[in-house]
Amino acid sequence: MIKLENIYKSFGDLEVLKGINLEVQEGEVVCVIGPSGSGKSTMLRCMNQLETITDGKIYIDNNLVSFVKKGKDQLNLHEREAIKLRTNLGMVFQRFNLFPHLTVLENLTIAPQLVKGEKPEEIKDRALDLLKRVGLQDKKDEYPTKLSGGQQQRVAIARALAMNPSIMLFDEPTSALDPELVGEVLEVMKKLADEGMTMVVVTHEMGFAREVGTRVIFMDEGQIVEEGDPEVIFTAPQAERTKSFLNKIL
Ligand code: ATP
Ligand code: MG
Repeated sequence: MIKLENIYKSFGDLEVLKGINLEVQEGEVVCVIGPSGSGKSTMLRCMNQLETITDGKIYIDNNLVSFVKKGKDQLNLHEREAIKLRTNLGMVFQRFNLFPHLTVLENLTIAPQLVKGEKPEEIKDRALDLLKRVGLQDKKDEYPTKLSGGQQQRVAIARALAMNPSIMLFDEPTSALDPELVGEVLEVMKKLADEGMTMVVVTHEMGFAREVGTRVIFMDEGQIVEEGDPEVIFTAPQAERTKSFLNKIL
């Protein structure tokens, strides 16, 4: 599905990703944990082409979509097709980033219209169905500021799904929420995982990682230090750095 091969990313002199290798298969729910500043968000942003990588290769469905040109390497796809493949990745951020001047329903329909050229009436039914799935069909005509943080984040998830992505990336989707609103968002994510969505989730919610994750990745200082079955990582981590991180937060 998505494969990162020896990814490096620097911001000026600061090397943030130092040789990330990661392959996510269909139906996996990969939870990424690690200390602040370890490069978790940067890795997601590189996957989604929101950042350009400094070195390495990224494949989506076996197609090379991102690499650093060296020698006679060539992108094996037209740029246009690469861009199309990137829309296979939906992303949900810590802050919901809804369009404030659009209604909830319009927030869902705008990207399929503008990016994919879908007709409003074609997308509307799908959008309403997605709102139903996140429990917000009755809010379709509201503006985002009228919604709670948890509701806004559920709209953000539905909005990403409206593009029919094959992979969903989540960057700490619940960490900006009041504690009592976290559960409803995790519930929606769990349902999505149960339906077989391929997901990469950066999270501090260890309960979610343990219960829903099919694999946990521990990152520190721009590298994947350890990865494995959630139960194993949480009960018998091997690396010292994983142990001390988990000791601090569990
Ligand atoms: P957190 O848990 O706090 O969200 P993180 O693991 O997501 O942390 P990143 O946001 O990926 O960490 O940041 C990794 C490092 O890269 C940090 O030192 C950060 O300051 C730096 N960094 C991230 N984005 C940029 C940028 N656009 N320009 C310069 N430095 C950046
Ligand atoms: Mg982050």
